[in-house]
Amino acid sequence: MDKKLVAPGDCIGTEEEYLPGAGTFIDKEKIYSTLSGDLVDNAKTLSVAQKRPLAAFGIGTIIVGVIENVVEPIALVSMQEGSGHQRFGGNPDYAVLHASMIKRGYVKNVSDEYKIGDIIRAKIADMRNGEMRLSTDSDNLGAIKAFCSKCRHGMALNGAVLECESCGRKENRKVANDYRKAEI
Ligand SMILES: [Zn+2]
Repeated sequence: MDKKLVAPGDCIGTEEEYLPGAGTFIDKEKIYSTLSGDLVDNAKTLSVAQKRPLAAFGIGTIIVGVIENVVEPIALVSMQEGSGHQRFGGNPDYAVLHASMIKRGYVKNVSDEYKIGDIIRAKIADMRNGEMRLSTDSDNLGAIKAFCSKCRHGMALNGAVLECESCGRKENRKVANDYRKAEI
């Protein structure tokens, strides 16, 4: 049994060769990790054993996180508990946000509502097999700061859409009701 360190979003194998275990998900017949940890191949079942326990976080905890990667239909979110006054980075925990958990109503792709780099406020909706699943489907949850996907400038809320303060590009987000007013 070999061990290899993997990160969230890493492609770790194919369904043709392996079965998906804890800490993984499948997209288009490929198996990806949802966690940072050791890759374990146990009788052709791939799982990821998390490096750190997630004891600090419970179901219902509100977190502030950054959309780190999108592999449809999920986003991987690095997160810190509470208001997010702590600096991002370091050795964050990762959680999974599925497109269906973004808002009330149908969302096909995460990228219809969030882009990599967005800062979101989310709730821990579920924990299973060491995997945290987030939801942003209430008014106080969603993007609290978003960046233009073209020029990376901050975006201001203009009516129901976000508008880039530099290039004027308009983009859609599921925003929290205190977008850009929240302390980050
Ligand atoms: Zn822009």
